[in-house]
Amino acid sequence: MSTTQHHEHVPVLIVGAGLAGTSTAMFLGLHGVPSLLVERHPTTSNQPKARGQSWHTMEALRIAGVSERVRAAGYDLDLGMPIVIAESVTGRVLHEIIGERWPEFPHLTPERMGMASQERTEPILAERARELGAEIRFGTRLESFEQDADGVDVALTDTGTGRSKTVRADHLVAADGWRGVVRERAGIGTHGRGELTRAIGVVFDADLADAVCGHEHALFYLQNPAFDGMANFVSTDTPGRWAAFFDYHPERGETLDDYPRERLAEVVRRIVGIPGLPLEVVSVAETGIAHRVADRFSAGRVHLVGDTAHTMPPHGGQGGNTAMMDGFYLAWKLAAVVGGWAGLGLLDSHDAERRPYGEMIAGQQYANMIARSMPQLADGTEDAPVPPEQALLGYRYPDGAVVPERDEDGARLEDPNHPTGRPGSHAPHFWLTRSGERLPVLDLFGRGFVLLTGSDAWAKVATEVAGRLGVPLRAEVVGGTDELVDADRDWRRRYGIGPDGATLVRPDRFVAWRSSDAADAAALEAALRRVLHR
Ligand SMILES: Cc1cc2nc3c(=O)[nH]c(=O)nc-3n(C[C@H](O)[C@H](O)[C@H](O)COP(=O)(O)OP(=O)(O)OC[C@H]3O[C@@H](n4cnc5c(N)ncnc54)[C@H](O)[C@@H]3O)c2cc1C
Repeated sequence: MSTTQHHEHVPVLIVGAGLAGTSTAMFLGLHGVPSLLVERHPTTSNQPKARGQSWHTMEALRIAGVSERVRAAGYDLDLGMPIVIAESVTGRVLHEIIGERWPEFPHLTPERMGMASQERTEPILAERARELGAEIRFGTRLESFEQDADGVDVALTDTGTGRSKTVRADHLVAADGWRGVVRERAGIGTHGRGELTRAIGVVFDADLADAVCGHEHALFYLQNPAFDGMANFVSTDTPGRWAAFFDYHPERGETLDDYPRERLAEVVRRIVGIPGLPLEVVSVAETGIAHRVADRFSAGRVHLVGDTAHTMPPHGGQGGNTAMMDGFYLAWKLAAVVGGWAGLGLLDSHDAERRPYGEMIAGQQYANMIARSMPQLADGTEDAPVPPEQALLGYRYPDGAVVPERDEDGARLEDPNHPTGRPGSHAPHFWLTRSGERLPVLDLFGRGFVLLTGSDAWAKVATEVAGRLGVPLRAEVVGGTDELVDADRDWRRRYGIGPDGATLVRPDRFVAWRSSDAADAAALEAALRRVLHR
C-alpha cells in the first residue's frame, strides 16, 4: 500500500541520472545550487553505449574539475582506435573513417579528446555532483508532475518500498532519455524523421584479439546485404568483451522472443565473420534508433536536456556529448535565476541556443548513419557534412543570451581557425602566463562572468557594476598588475577589441558582449541587464 507525504522543497529537481542528468547536477553544484537528482534504476547505466568526450565536452569537464578523472577512466587514443566500414569485422574493409590517428586541434582548445565509456563517465559526474552538493536518489521514479506559475509539484515513488511523496521544485529538468515521459506530459511535441530502426544489442565474450586489427578498441559499421538493415560492432571496457548491434523488425511482427541465444550467437558470428566462433552471450538489450527533436526545449519551468530533447542515430558519437553539454549550458542559467541575479526570461535562451544546436547535430548524425550504414537509403535530403572543429568548437548562439552587434548575420557556425570573437561565439582560445605559470584562457572562465580586458579602468568598472547588480562578475586584466601575460601578445585581435576595450564572457565561456570603447559603467550594466533579463 502506498502513502503520500508532503512537501519537500528543492530549487531544481532533475529526473534521470544518465549523462544529461548527472552533468546538470554537477554544473548546478559548481554554480552553488544544490539539486535533487532522481533515477528509477538502482545505479547509473551499465549498458555499453556511448564512448568518448569531444574537445568541447572536455573543456566543460575541465571547468568542473573532472576532465583528468574522465580521461584517466578512458582508453588512451594514442594506442589507436580505428573506425571502419567493412563487410564484417574480419571481412573486406570498404572505407576507413578514422585510422591510427584521431584529429586534434591544439591551436583551438587546450583539451584533447577523452575516450571514457558512458558506464565509467556517469559515476564520475555523479560523484562530483555529490561533492558539489547534489543529492542523488536512485530507485526513485517520477510518476507525474504539475506546474504552476511559481514552481512544479513532482510526484515520486520509491521503487523499493512503493512509497510516494510530492516534492516541490522551482524548476524541473527532464533528463529522462528517449523513452522519458516528461516531455510529452509538458505538452511538447517532436519533429524529425522519427523512428528509423529497432536494434538488438548483444554483449558477448569471445577471443578476438587477432581479429580486431590488433587493437583493444575499434568500431565497425557493416555494409553487407547479408544483414537485414544496420549492423555495428564495438569494443567494451572489459578486455575480451564486445558488443554487436543489429536491426530487427517489429514492424514485421518480430519480437525479442524470436531471437533465442543460439540465433543471437549466429548473427554475432556473421557480424564478426568467423563461422563457428566460440562465444558467450553476456546480455541482450533492445534500443531504438531515431531522429527526433523536441519542438521546444522548455515549457514554463520544465526544461529538456539530452536524448529527450534530441534523439539521434549513434553515428558520430555526439548524443552523449550533446547531453552533457546541455547540462553545462543550462546550469548557470538556472543558477542565475534561482540565485535571484537573473530574470526568469534568461531561461528562454535554453531553447534559442540549444535547439538549433541539437537540430544541427541530429542532422549530422542522420547523414552519417546514411553514409556509414545505409547508403541505399540516401535520397539527397541529408544535411551536408560540417567539419568537426566547426560543429564542436565553432557553434554560435547568435540569438541567445547575448547582446548581438549591429552587423550580426545570424550564422550558427564559424570557423574557429578564424575566430571573430563576436557575441554569441566561443571565447577564442589562447595561452597566458600567470606569475610565470602557463594557463589557457579557458581556466579563467567557468564560474561567474569575466570581463576580459587590458584596461585597469574597465576592471574598476566591472567591480562597481558587479556590486550594484549583485552579479558574480570579475575582471581579468591581461598585461595588468596580476601579471597575466598574453604569451603571443595577440589576444585583442582574436577577440576583436581595441587596446582600450573589453569582452564580457559568460560562465559557459561564450562571449556575451564586447566594447572597443573606453571604460563605461553604464554600457556594461546595460549589457548585463539585457543578457540576464533584468
Ligand atoms: C548503440 C548506441 C551507441 C551510442 N554511442 C554513442 C557514442 O559513441 N557517443 C555519444 O556521445 N553518444 C552515443 N550514444 C548516445 C548516448 O548513449 C545517448 O545520447 C546518451 O546516453 C543520452 O543520455 P541521457 O542522459 O539524455 O539519457 P539516458 O542515458 O537514456 O538517461 C535517462 C535516464 O532517465 C531515467 N529515467 C527515465 N524515466 C524516468 C523516470 N520516470 N523516473 C526516474 N528516472 C527515469 C532512465 O532510467 C535513465 O537512466 C549511443 C547510443 C546508442 C543507443
